[in-house]
Amino acid sequence: MPTCLLVQPIHHKGIDVLLSAGLEIRQASASTMDVVAKEIVGCVAAITRNAGLSREAMQAATELKVLGNHGIGTDPVDVTYASEIGLPIIFTPYGNVQSVAELALSQMLAIARRTREADRAVRSGNYDYRYSRDFIELQGKTLAVIGFGRIGRRTAEVAKGAFGMRVVAYDPYLSAAAIEAAGAEKGEDLGAVLGVADVVSLHLQLTPETRSILDKERLAQMKPGAMLVNTARGALVDPDALVDALKSGHLRGAAMDVFEIEPLPVDHPFAKEDRLILSPHIGGATEECLERTAVQTAEQVVDVLEGRKPAHLVNPDVWERRRLSAA
Ligand code: NAD
Repeated sequence: MPTCLLVQPIHHKGIDVLLSAGLEIRQASASTMDVVAKEIVGCVAAITRNAGLSREAMQAATELKVLGNHGIGTDPVDVTYASEIGLPIIFTPYGNVQSVAELALSQMLAIARRTREADRAVRSGNYDYRYSRDFIELQGKTLAVIGFGRIGRRTAEVAKGAFGMRVVAYDPYLSAAAIEAAGAEKGEDLGAVLGVADVVSLHLQLTPETRSILDKERLAQMKPGAMLVNTARGALVDPDALVDALKSGHLRGAAMDVFEIEPLPVDHPFAKEDRLILSPHIGGATEECLERTAVQTAEQVVDVLEGRKPAHLVNPDVWERRRLSAA
């Protein structure tokens, strides 16, 4: 029976799709590549998450016809080698959009309404916290979306539709017409965008160009009392400069779901910063997102095995010259 190796576990609804297509499931006993290279032998398909798939594992997988990448990031997969050997890799670029957008919006609300502080106040008997006059609405405020891709657009759409926020998008790779068609205004200059925003939400990828895009100077350009939400990548923000901007009161608050080093060390200065909401990379960790991503991954794996071109190929140039029989 043709077998699909699961390098890491996936939602059972995804497994149902694979079983219905007549595949046998083999769960890897560990996601380290030395183990995977042994257990992938004979499999026609494999699905991996953040463990990726190495060149050595691909070399051992002479029968492999398709690799499913559960999620967006393919950095731990040797895509270059896969393309060289004609191995199609599918991925799920839209699976986590709604979940990450919802997290970004929930963090904005938490900072605006001080929900974490309010919870602590009630628990410590400080009911008068309600008179602190430190609560604001999002309605009518300006949201800067830095990186107007899949998640940035969805965040903008909900912020505008649900809260009546004005949205300015900073994305040098998109035209004003494309941004306006999605209901936002194009900000041409990052400093100017930061200067008008009450809320800054990061939704761009980490590249050498974007690393520390919010450094000391950029954070200083943010409007006094503004909030920063980062559900994109930790290294986009200079951590020391962020702590300073919060300690000095320049920023009302910030939320970070992602960190340059994960897990965040417990003695990191972030952990001592009261105006910073921390979460352990939970943007795409909802039940719905895990189910959607597993199903979309499994369906595309089956598509490839049954000869249909899948919706999302990481290496589309491989399609016409994909390996069809054992290497
Ligand atoms: P995307 O590729 O659809 O969008 C990224 C956008 O950033 C693109 O429109 C691109 O033009 C823009 N961009 C590139 N360089 C830029 C720059 N210098 N300045 C401004 N914009 C720039 O990506 P996406 O799927 O929307 O994901 C956005 C981010 O969210 C990524 O960093 C991704 O890693 C992260 N993410 C986090 C989680 C989580 O669990 N927290 C889950 C999924 C994705």
